[in-house]
Amino acid sequence: MKDLDHLLYPAVLISCILVAAGVLIYVRWFSHIPVATCWVYEELHLYCPGCGCTRAFTALLQGDVLRSLRYNPGVAYFALGTAVYLLTQTVQRLTGWRCGVRFRPIYLHLGFGLLVGNALVWNLLWHVWGIQM
Ligand SMILES: [Zn+2]
Repeated sequence: MKDLDHLLYPAVLISCILVAAGVLIYVRWFSHIPVATCWVYEELHLYCPGCGCTRAFTALLQGDVLRSLRYNPGVAYFALGTAVYLLTQTVQRLTGWRCGVRFRPIYLHLGFGLLVGNALVWNLLWHVWGIQM
């Protein structure tokens, strides 16, 4: 997995920079444009694994972790995982101290399981008890 981290670290770092730039550009110049709604939600009346991610991401950016977890815990999971990965890998690369968290496929599997599980729970809440996201 050493080679994978060698490639993954710059890719994740560049992706995070691009996402941050995209968020800043959107907030500065395009926030009047509404975010598209979910096709699965609109047409099938079901929550998909991605439902709530935009609201969870927005809440996380505003520092409201609990509201972010309520909408979709996958966003906080991936944000925290990415932050820990980048921070420890950066420290390791700058100092030589072997503290870098290495990528493991199980981290992705857990995250995607969290997204799917969240959708299942929200669909159950909605269609059995009428509680909507
Ligand atoms: Zn959706």
